[in-house]
Amino acid sequence: MFRYERPQKGRLREFHQFGIESFGLDSVYEDASLIMMVGEIFKTLGIGYTLQLNSLGDQNCMPQYREKLIGFITEHEADICEDCKRRKDLNPIRVLDCKNSACQAIYAQAPKLINNLCDSCESDFEKLKKILDKNGMAYEVDTHLVRGLDYYSKTAFEFVSNEIGAQSAIAGGGRYDRLVEFLDGKATPAVGFAIGIERLLDLVKMPELERTGYYFGAMDENAVELIFELGSQKRVEDKVIIEYNHKSLKAHLKGADRANARYCAIIGENELNEGTIWIKDLLLKEEKTVKISEL
Ligand SMILES: [Zn+2]
Ligand SMILES: [Zn+2]
Repeated sequence: MFRYERPQKGRLREFHQFGIESFGLDSVYEDASLIMMVGEIFKTLGIGYTLQLNSLGDQNCMPQYREKLIGFITEHEADICEDCKRRKDLNPIRVLDCKNSACQAIYAQAPKLINNLCDSCESDFEKLKKILDKNGMAYEVDTHLVRGLDYYSKTAFEFVSNEIGAQSAIAGGGRYDRLVEFLDGKATPAVGFAIGIERLLDLVKMPELERTGYYFGAMDENAVELIFELGSQKRVEDKVIIEYNHKSLKAHLKGADRANARYCAIIGENELNEGTIWIKDLLLKEEKTVKISEL
């Protein structure tokens, strides 16, 4: 996908998303089902979130609300930002999610869509909240959660996270019962969601792999044979990686780290002459030299 507007800081013009589009079902159980599915995805990935919920009404109640809101904006037109003045004519609903704090203070007093829903929208919204309550899905009603396009209706939701700086949406969805109609199709109810993949990558916590086993390496060519012998013996009881090429200590430590080994066991010229082996515990950052017979 590509953003049309200038991307905000931390957002990419080109981005990827995945999601679900469900066509043909007008029951709010389907809305709840998708919301819970998103919650399950984040839970599985270990990502904390807050679910925000709103109803956008439908073609019965939205137009009347829009008029009310335009009335309110007109009353306060002197005090709102330039963007909002533009939005008033183009897309008045969008003023509600203006990020300008002066605007936000004004819109706190604006008429709320959820107080202006028709009976059908109102009962659907109540039912959706009840289903989520019953199924242990926590949410906040955010009356300023809106969408910019006219085919969106009723349920709108966003999953937001505090884990990447300022609170930002990590998944969004809702109903778009009029989309198919807008595309000249037969009226078909629809609900869906999308999750941004780049956002997700920032949030997923990869489990730390525990360091295990041994890495054996030689710093002297003449020690390779011995390293192979010792490593092969150790392999009977533990996970062992043997480096066949002699290298510097630094290169071996790097290799041991890459292999996620717990112990890095090295024989250099001194150790070879003294019949010892140098071992570093990469987890506790402790090192010692022991007799080969004590390994
Ligand atoms: Zn504004
Ligand atoms: Zn309605």
